[in-house]
Amino acid sequence: MNNKELPYRQIHLDFHTSPYIEGVGESFNGDEFIDTLKNAHVSSINLFAKCHHGMYYYPTKIGRMHPNLSFDLFGEQMRLCKENNIRALAYTCVSWNEDVADRHPEWLTLDAEGVRGVKKPFESSFYSWRHICHNNRDYQKILKEEIKEIYDLYKPDGFWIDIVQGKRCICKTCSKDMISIGLDPHEPKDVLRFDRISETAFCRTMYEYIRSLDNDLEIFFNSNPYRLDDAEDEEASSAEKRKYYDFIDIESLPSDQWGYTHFPVAVNYLNKYDKALCMMNGKFHTAWGDFGSIRNKNALEYECFRAIANGSAVCIGDQLHPCGKPDKAVYERIGGIFSQIESLEPWIKGSEKMSGIAVMIPKKAGEEDEEAQKSIEGVYRILSELHLMFDFVNIQDPLEKYKLLILPDRVTLNCATAEKIEEYVSLGGRLLMTGSSCLKDGRSQLSCMDIIHHGKSEFSHRYLRLDKDYFSGIPEIDHVLYEAGEKTEGKGDVLARIVEPYFQRTYDRFCSHRQTPPRREESDEAGILRCKGGIYLSFPVFAIYSEYGYTIYRDILERCLKELVEKPLIKTDLPALTELTLRKGPDRYLLHMLNYVKERKAKVMDTVEEKYTVCDRTVRIYTEDRPARVVRVQGQKETGFDFEEGYTRIHIEREEGYTLYNIEMKS
Ligand SMILES: [Zn+2]
Repeated sequence: MNNKELPYRQIHLDFHTSPYIEGVGESFNGDEFIDTLKNAHVSSINLFAKCHHGMYYYPTKIGRMHPNLSFDLFGEQMRLCKENNIRALAYTCVSWNEDVADRHPEWLTLDAEGVRGVKKPFESSFYSWRHICHNNRDYQKILKEEIKEIYDLYKPDGFWIDIVQGKRCICKTCSKDMISIGLDPHEPKDVLRFDRISETAFCRTMYEYIRSLDNDLEIFFNSNPYRLDDAEDEEASSAEKRKYYDFIDIESLPSDQWGYTHFPVAVNYLNKYDKALCMMNGKFHTAWGDFGSIRNKNALEYECFRAIANGSAVCIGDQLHPCGKPDKAVYERIGGIFSQIESLEPWIKGSEKMSGIAVMIPKKAGEEDEEAQKSIEGVYRILSELHLMFDFVNIQDPLEKYKLLILPDRVTLNCATAEKIEEYVSLGGRLLMTGSSCLKDGRSQLSCMDIIHHGKSEFSHRYLRLDKDYFSGIPEIDHVLYEAGEKTEGKGDVLARIVEPYFQRTYDRFCSHRQTPPRREESDEAGILRCKGGIYLSFPVFAIYSEYGYTIYRDILERCLKELVEKPLIKTDLPALTELTLRKGPDRYLLHMLNYVKERKAKVMDTVEEKYTVCDRTVRIYTEDRPARVVRVQGQKETGFDFEEGYTRIHIEREEGYTLYNIEMKS
């Protein structure tokens, strides 16, 4: 199933319906259901065989059909989709199943505090389902029977299997399994690592079982297959888990826990692999289960177009009302976007991401590391704001195709990876290393970055005095470092020096409201150093950018990156707000441009309300050869261009929202 393109226009039709609700499906009308999907240009749908309440929506012999449903709703929906050539996957879920939690409380997870099933007594907050241990073999047996029943009765195109997520379970089965592989159930780190290992084991078991039923079934587990880790601990890595996936949905509803940086971070990791990707957002104002809300038109549009700009299909999450009648207004809104995507499909199908920069993931498999997460977000923000195309890489990924490797803030290397990077540099690759990355036992792990490490600075804040010629244009003040970083010395050209504060702020010795001011004289220590292999910044610039957003850090990196990447794929004077992606199709380059205003409009969430207009700007794309023509795909309007030194220059007269340019290389 690999290498397959997914249908671009998908719906995930949530139907978690409490057994306390009456008249389930009583307003369902087959003609209306299928017409709604067809009129909204839907090409694929995830349909509910069973929900988190543990209710089945077909006559089952395994569990309990919803008590207030009088017909085979799932079977009807499946039949209609098949007859109308809409791909239909059967949705079922693993750990969230209220009915099984009632009947088999002994299968609930158990954590070190003694809480069973994650949910404390009297808890009623959102998403507070009881959690069954996916590792329980009796439960796995039932899940297999359920999948076989669904397959035998309905022959779906595949299975979308939700909630395979370890919850630090130390139940009898998990403890026994941990001990058998040398892990200690008393040790929180081991328990967390076992979560990852047992999730993968579950995916493997079920994948092999489903494959044994039918080799053509498409299989997906909602189990964080996009988790960013360096894959050094292979067994616990997301790379190992992804072997048991036919495609990858990136569940990412921006107005909930995910925010607007989650999807692009995940997609910039997975885009280089050959597994098909799909972005899953929602039609909700907030997220799943937000009845009575419809997503802002521009927010929905932005999220869907951003997905296709990243080579990903789109799956919009909806929840069907218990009565079974779809919301007309919702499908009109979705149809307005899906019809546009459909008209773009001839151009966007079969394209590949272009990228010149690799970023090593600074996170270990099986660990939760908030600091590393900040660095990852900072990398995404800075590089996308500078319109530089990049991939997150793990230690297994090849580096040859990249001009630059970034080692952000806190990367630690094993010997083999250090050697791999030395070789990469010896073949002409360049490095940007920041913070404590690759510093071990008092020195750099890389001989091409000749740095001695004296530990962390004793100050919480320090300052940076930039070389005014190298960094011309950046205001000449001593710029604060909101995290002081590392004390280092090294061989190379000093591009900025550290300036220390007069003293460390304490309860009884302090100056003014915040950090102590800088001394007048600079120290001997370099804050930015040009070494043989590239440039080193002695502070975690990406993490502090994600935390404080001080644009001077971005300006500093822009200057360094200009030296390290001589011919970036894109050069432009477009604002940081404009998002660009560059993809390559057969005989063409595709430039996707997004102009939308992401806002924190409310205290609890980010959203998009308005499009943004850019006027009179220029984009230069490195196409190497002169293209035959440049066409603005929307409206099929041929656009004038210049070609100089390998770059095709397009003038952007006035654009707003989403635009796709097709740069045709052959006439
Ligand atoms: Zn368990």
